[in-house]
Amino acid sequence: MTSAPPIPVSDAVDALNRVFGYPSFRGQQSEIVEHVVAGGDALVLMPTGGGKSLCYQIPALVRPGTGVVISPLIALMQDQVDALRTLGVRANFLNSSQDLDERRLVEAEFVAGELDLLYVAPEGLGTAGVQRLLDRGKISLFAIDEAHCVSQWGHDFRPDYLNLSMLHERWPDVPRIALTATATPATRDEIAARLQLTEARHFTASFDRPNIQYRIVPKNSPAKQLLELLRTEHAGHSGIVYCLSRASVEKHAEFLSQNGIPALPYHAGLDARTRAANQSRFLREDGLVMVATIAFGMGIDKPDVRFVAHLDLPKSVEGYYQETGRAGRDGLPSTAWLAYGLQDVVQQRKMIESSDGDVGFRRNAARHLDAMLALCESVTCRRGQLLAYFGQAENPEKCGNCDVCLVPPESWDGTVPAQKLLSTVVRLQKERGQKFGAGQSIDILLGKRTEKVSQFRHDELTVFGIGADLREAEWRGVVRQLLAGGFLAVEGEYGTLALTERSGEVLRGERKLLMRREAPSARHSSSRSPGGSRQPAAAPADFPESAAPLFERLRTWRGSVAKEQGVPAYVIFHDATLRAIAALAPVSLDQLGTVAGVGQGKLAKFGDQVLEVVAAEQ
Ligand code: ADP
Ligand code: ZN
Repeated sequence: MTSAPPIPVSDAVDALNRVFGYPSFRGQQSEIVEHVVAGGDALVLMPTGGGKSLCYQIPALVRPGTGVVISPLIALMQDQVDALRTLGVRANFLNSSQDLDERRLVEAEFVAGELDLLYVAPEGLGTAGVQRLLDRGKISLFAIDEAHCVSQWGHDFRPDYLNLSMLHERWPDVPRIALTATATPATRDEIAARLQLTEARHFTASFDRPNIQYRIVPKNSPAKQLLELLRTEHAGHSGIVYCLSRASVEKHAEFLSQNGIPALPYHAGLDARTRAANQSRFLREDGLVMVATIAFGMGIDKPDVRFVAHLDLPKSVEGYYQETGRAGRDGLPSTAWLAYGLQDVVQQRKMIESSDGDVGFRRNAARHLDAMLALCESVTCRRGQLLAYFGQAENPEKCGNCDVCLVPPESWDGTVPAQKLLSTVVRLQKERGQKFGAGQSIDILLGKRTEKVSQFRHDELTVFGIGADLREAEWRGVVRQLLAGGFLAVEGEYGTLALTERSGEVLRGERKLLMRREAPSARHSSSRSPGGSRQPAAAPADFPESAAPLFERLRTWRGSVAKEQGVPAYVIFHDATLRAIAALAPVSLDQLGTVAGVGQGKLAKFGDQVLEVVAAEQ
């Protein structure tokens, strides 16, 4: 290959200003862009909302040829392409949803060099047809989005990703950039190895998402707790509610709808058309709540998701962080809320134990769960814990924007109650040869003469009634924390309690157990402190109250344009951009063009209309 003269960095900044309307790169974007523009390979780890897309879109714009983006998300390609075209970027996609004529058209565009960006599905790339096509045009770079899909231990594994190492073999001169928001050191190494990116430069951004408030609350009546959260803090907002099972998704979507909150279900049991329709409505309409299993969410780049709520415990911190990261991509204040209780621990431990996976799989799953439980039971800053988990040592001691920092939990010495509970398990097993679940052990400790207690004559045990000094909720907390710490185990189909190797440490008094105090029920849910000490990075500080009516009019205008064009509202302009316009109230195109998020393409398309809306308000 003859070497072309190097592309000046100013081209990249120029594209950023002109096309996207942003004044400057954020964080590591400029380094990454510079590296890829110069032809280098890169592995980029950045949290959701960090700004990964620009890292390959800008190099694709300034390098000669078409940037080929491998994305696992066929259903979202149309939206991604629409968003780019609205900016004036020449983009298209190839996937199995198209008929032959449509494909031919896109192929012709690519061969003729008329595309800046071409999105393809990983399974497509594996076919000889697509590979031959790519040989006929000029490729500026390969971007491998959602690169963690190559990880076999991960939660989003896609077998087709394993073949992507062939990109390097077949097109050794084309730079590759792999991007993901999943970021433990182990996953990163796995991605690098499987995609043959060991020589690539690694870029790891800070994983902090300062605008997201992390909260983990004790679960008592989850549906009601959720409703209260939405009513008091997120009325009219878009958000995602994650549930473990399809049945639970259906139930909670129904529950929210009945209570006047517009909600849609999403899970793998719905037919493809309903799923696509619900997803599309969530993206396009303002203020919808998506109740979903984790089948939903990857690649959803809706910027104004204001909350992500989990009604069940996620299986890993990686999954939790990725799911909660879907909130607040626009940098505005958002909430990540998780309700967590004893039943979650029992259920997840049981699921692991009864899974078909081999020993390695189960050990891996248990390790992931343990990390998640440690986060839930933590009495120190959640954000600090999360960042430490992702290997970021410089985490702040107190972030000021998580439940622990806002309302520090009280801890108490739970050693003696823990011993009583473990003794009960020992007595049942040793004296009676019996195993029971948490409920029965707690009833025994509380001295409750239930039918089941009488039936098994458990009131004759020496431990009967020795725990009447604690409330039932507190006992459930003790069991939960013992399970979380590995001092107690659950077994079999019924989730019966059993001792572990570590139970002895507690029984012999070698170990003091500090426990989180259980909040007296319900009251806990609204812990958002208005005077939270940390201002989220992009809080709309310079948005005067008086600009609110204009903002609303601009939103209405945006809604009608989006509908007319059949694209999500945020594709026209983000909330943050509309706010800035409302605050500025520009009177000329030049002035409007200075607003972040208004590039040349959008200025030409929408500028006059926006000025009209502004003028009508004056
Ligand atoms: P990711 O893919 O990492 O989740 P995106 O690429 O979707 O993140 O970017 C998140 C949001 O930040 C988008 O709304 C995007 O327009 C915005 N953004 C990204 N880079 C910049 C920048 N340099 N200046 C202003 N906004 C940016
Ligand atoms: Zn904190």
